[in-house]
Amino acid sequence: MPLPHAVLITYPTAGQLNPMLQLAQLLHSKGFYITFVNTEFGYRQLLRGNASLDALFGRFNRSSFRFVSIPDGICESDLQGPGYLLNVWFSIVRNCPAALHELLLELNSSPDVPRLTCIITNFLVTFPRDVADRLGVPELVFWTTSACGLMASLHVRELVRRGYVPLKDESCLTNGYLDTAIDWIPGMKDIRLRDISSFIRTTDRDDFYLKEEMEEADYALKSQGLILNTFEGMEGEVLDALRGFFPRIYALGAIGSLIDQISGSAGTTTPMRLGSWDEEEEEDRRCAEWLEAQQRGSVVYVSFGSITTLTRDELAEFAWGLAESGRPFLWVVRPGLVEGGIEALPGGLVEETKGRSLLVKWCHQGKVLSHPAIGVFLTHGGWNSMMESVARGVPMICWPGFADQYTNCRYACKHWGFGMEIEEEVRRGQVREVVREALEGEKGEEMRKKAMEWKEKARRAATEDGTSFTDLARLANDLNQLTT
Ligand code: UDP
Repeated sequence: MPLPHAVLITYPTAGQLNPMLQLAQLLHSKGFYITFVNTEFGYRQLLRGNASLDALFGRFNRSSFRFVSIPDGICESDLQGPGYLLNVWFSIVRNCPAALHELLLELNSSPDVPRLTCIITNFLVTFPRDVADRLGVPELVFWTTSACGLMASLHVRELVRRGYVPLKDESCLTNGYLDTAIDWIPGMKDIRLRDISSFIRTTDRDDFYLKEEMEEADYALKSQGLILNTFEGMEGEVLDALRGFFPRIYALGAIGSLIDQISGSAGTTTPMRLGSWDEEEEEDRRCAEWLEAQQRGSVVYVSFGSITTLTRDELAEFAWGLAESGRPFLWVVRPGLVEGGIEALPGGLVEETKGRSLLVKWCHQGKVLSHPAIGVFLTHGGWNSMMESVARGVPMICWPGFADQYTNCRYACKHWGFGMEIEEEVRRGQVREVVREALEGEKGEEMRKKAMEWKEKARRAATEDGTSFTDLARLANDLNQLTT
């Protein structure tokens, strides 16, 4: 009996690659033959960071797990400067569709691999649909944000139709207009215009990001199924409402916990790395050693994910806010976070915080968040980071910057109770006070309690008979049924 064959197509940033790799691991554990399609740029990142694919998936049967890459035309100069994300996107859209079509056609007729059972795409990769239709292979979308983030995105078109967006003029950004309550999105409560994707913050009807946001939502709506990294206990109300839009929804969060459950040991996923293997082994060792020397629950872990950028002023406000808080902190200052990289940190910071600060370029976030010394996570509110933190019971200080991060932050602070927010225009005084409150204040105590409750709920969702565990079984079963 040939294995069912899932082709997974990812987008090459850590926030998209990591969860797709995790989904691949899960489906592989369910007996699927996996073809993992990356763009050449993403593949290089993966290889560079993991020395060899054996290091990444050593335990898996490589004969039923293949990595394939398609040309994306991305060159070094595309990766420079603040516009690099757009460069990457345009290069992919220009260069990948034809190559992907060719690959899928080839895979479907190759005698060396089982016939295709399904195609699963990242929500940013909206071009394999026509070939999937042509081949008669079902296509599902892995939407890697929260369910509430997706629900908000699904209603951007309606916001435009009702005249909320585009904004009348720039003053709407500061005159309280963004505080307008939005109370008609199904399954969502207590949200304002400002809590919906940042891409609505434009005065231009033809704004690139605004249009993309709507097109991605349209694309997902026509898929045969939707996969999310969330769980019923956390976003049940929104998931229920989403069921009105999607025929099949599979909520597999926290996806890392599900892998731990299935593989029988904790921390089994190997996230994407940014630097070389040796360099990052060394960073991991430094983090572990330094954390060992800190008191339980005392450390602020600071990371703004893999793509957010800061201005030098913002960097300085965070730096001095952390310094003034007097509390220990471990900060990921990845290359590209700010122009000039780690060198852009204010002179004197390291000296001032000697013994209680550790700066790294990248770390194994899962391991860091699991360490008992971590007291709070200062995050941009990227969904993977949030779910990784929820799974470990670590409360959060959120400073959202773009896309769904505003929605995630609103829910973390208002509904889930494990978050505090830092204002958009970051000031060192607020950073100092929020950090102290989160670690030692009454609000911090409450957040810690909530975070531990969510951790327990996440754990239960991933255990046998838990909702995420059973959704994975249902996904594997449905994928087999869809093609028979
Ligand atoms: N990450 C990591 N090491 C770091 C910083 C981030 O492994 O030093 C990983 C993190 O664990 C997460 C991903 O990068 O899986 C970031 O995804 P997220 O959705 O949080 O944010 P994005 O980068 O997409 O904005």
